[in-house]
Formats: sequence, C-alpha cells, structure tokens
Amino acid sequence: MLIPIRCFTCGTLVADKWDEYLKLKEQDTPPEEIFKRLDLERFCCRRMLIAHVDLIDDVLKFSRQQ
Ligand SMILES: [Zn+2]
Repeated sequence: MLIPIRCFTCGTLVADKWDEYLKLKEQDTPPEEIFKRLDLERFCCRRMLIAHVDLIDDVLKFSRQQ
C-alpha cells in the first residue's frame, strides 16, 4: 500500500524519503550509499524502505464491491 509515514520502531520520518530512494535505486546506486544520502542510520528505518512493496496502484484497479 502506501509507504508508512514514520518508522514503526523509532518514529523517524521515512515517507518523505521514498521518492528519492526509488530514484537512487533506479540509478543502481549501492544501498549503503543510498542510505547515507538519505541520512538513515538505523536499520529499523532502513527496513521500512527496503521491505515496502508499493501496491496502491494495483489495488486501486478494483472497486470496493469485489
Ligand atoms: Zn527507525
């Protein structure tokens, strides 16, 4: 679905970094470099971006009745 606004564990804002994360990932930037640029030190925050699957566009194709 949508990227969660904050890290579940520590509360750091992560949603504002999602677009930049995708952009850097498409440019084949190494993961360590991506997180250094996004200023995400803790692994709890890093997993929020790594583990997220953006399904909102797929889910929106279906109506609520189905
Ligand atoms: Zn965190």
